[in-house]
Amino acid sequence: MANLILLGPPGAGKGTQSRVLTEKFGLVQLSTGDLLRDAVEKGTDAGKAAQDVMQAGGLVSDDIVIAIVSDRLDRPDTANGVIFDGFPRTVAQAQALDTLLTEKAQTLDLVISLDVQDEAMIDRVSGRYTCAACGEGYHDTHKKPANPDTCDACGGHDFKRRADDKAETVAQRLAAYHAETAPLIAYYERKGLLKHIDAMGDIKAISNELATAVAQEDA
Ligand code: AMP
Repeated sequence: MANLILLGPPGAGKGTQSRVLTEKFGLVQLSTGDLLRDAVEKGTDAGKAAQDVMQAGGLVSDDIVIAIVSDRLDRPDTANGVIFDGFPRTVAQAQALDTLLTEKAQTLDLVISLDVQDEAMIDRVSGRYTCAACGEGYHDTHKKPANPDTCDACGGHDFKRRADDKAETVAQRLAAYHAETAPLIAYYERKGLLKHIDAMGDIKAISNELATAVAQEDA
């Protein structure tokens, strides 16, 4: 089992690569973005508090996010190992994660920084959409389904776009990444947990590189 973090700005491929790794290694993907969008949809207190900040491309408060992660880690399916996708995003969240894992007698085994060029991210993110049924990811120019309007993975016909994937909001999200999240690279480097992967190339080649890194930890 292994617990790992995928670090990187919006559009680096954290969600896409997490999905591949969950299938390969039986790990659970813990995406705070997904959990927060779910809370917004359900209209919970956390969702109501998070909604406007998310819409504007800012960061939701550490307290809310840490509480959501703590709840999710209490579910037994996480015992096999977790891929943290989009969490932690601040040093305070990273410290809280250290504490949560220690309380659960677990360790953090690997942090992978998906390295990308910022300029490419606005195009990547603002053109992306997913299958509403299975979550498979697509892009207006780089990855269209083989048959238009039909999901390659599940045959579904419904697709959705995130409200915060508009170009203006993506610029805000990139700024938040550089201000708040990028310092985590040094934080995990100091702990000897960090590995860099060039994430500008072919999705499959990046998946293979990631899988090799995870397999070394999982052995
Ligand atoms: P994501 O799906 O990871 O791109 O997250 C979408 C949005 O949810 C972000 O732009 C933030 O507003 C919020 N969010 C997700 N994860 C976190 C986090 N760990 N800390 C603060 N805000 C978050």
